[in-house]
Amino acid sequence: MLDLSALLRPTSPEEAVRLFAETRGNGLYVSGGTVIVPSGSSRLDFLVDLSAAGLDYVRPAAGGSGEEGSGAGPGLALGAGTCICDLARSQQVADVAGGVLHEAAAAVATHTVRNRASLGGNVIASHYPTDLPPALLVLDAELIAMNLEGTHEISLEEFYANRRALHRKGDLVVEVRVPPVSRGLTAAFEKLGRIKLDIAIVNAAAALRVEEGGIADARVAVNGTGRPPSRLREVEAFLSGKPTVRETFEEAGRVASASVDPRSNHRASGAYRKKMIGVLVRRALARAAEK
Ligand SMILES: Cc1cc2nc3c(=O)[nH]c(=O)nc-3n(C[C@H](O)[C@H](O)[C@H](O)COP(=O)(O)OP(=O)(O)OC[C@H]3O[C@@H](n4cnc5c(N)ncnc54)[C@H](O)[C@@H]3O)c2cc1C
Repeated sequence: MLDLSALLRPTSPEEAVRLFAETRGNGLYVSGGTVIVPSGSSRLDFLVDLSAAGLDYVRPAAGGSGEEGSGAGPGLALGAGTCICDLARSQQVADVAGGVLHEAAAAVATHTVRNRASLGGNVIASHYPTDLPPALLVLDAELIAMNLEGTHEISLEEFYANRRALHRKGDLVVEVRVPPVSRGLTAAFEKLGRIKLDIAIVNAAAALRVEEGGIADARVAVNGTGRPPSRLREVEAFLSGKPTVRETFEEAGRVASASVDPRSNHRASGAYRKKMIGVLVRRALARAAEK
């Protein structure tokens, strides 16, 4: 059970960071609380509640209208406190790259969980096989983080590859930024859970941009291996220049399976996850191409 000495409720991100730094003991930020509250950690002294900190928004990224003539659409600025329910019903989110982030948001648990769960919590709590990271990775998303020294940007891929160095205790994620997406880039998300509403055993997202000669840009990402969510660079290299035919996607699925070494837990064995990552990557690629 949580046994806190303080529950702090800042009204801005700056105040949140200051309160976190000033308060004694072991603390955490809390957004929707769907991870922290069920965990019932007795080692927590305080929580900094972000629900009134002004981090709840979905809007076009400033200056993100895309270069004229490049075919790029505007990027998105997503407040870290935005509930997953809002991502799942936002037309702006649905319009990006064929709606991959929209699909991932709609795949998170139930309405009840989505109404509380936040984007920031989903990105941070990726020790669970959370659904948004693969979709955000194929969109080349960045995190905007804040500490007492100011704000800094971190690519999501680097964040997961080197989290300890890039994100210290007390650093607040204020925003997830999706850069402008080139016209023609389409992406899809796939999830496997024990039942539809369950957290994933594994999940995957794939994005493709096709030119006359074949695949010009391929991005593939997975979560649920027991390691941080990641792009599968070997699969992306394999896909470069290939035609968008069933055989290409089947072989890409085999390359994906061969390139991961997932861990086992009570939900599934590592061997099953390895096999299913290949299946989900194949399906995500085929759906991205159809779009
Ligand atoms: C029944 C149930 C089913 C679930 N099913 C799914 C599912 O299908 N798919 C899925 O993806 N997830 C699922 N989850 C996990 C969880 O609900 C989500 O990952 C959710 O998005 C977490 O967000 P939150 O705001 O509730 O996180 P919180 O519990 O508030 O926080 C989680 C972690 O993130 C940190 N944090 C939160 N916001 C910030 C911030 N802005 N800056 C820095 N640190 C921050 C907190 O300190 C904490 O360490 C499920 C959870 C439950 C209870």
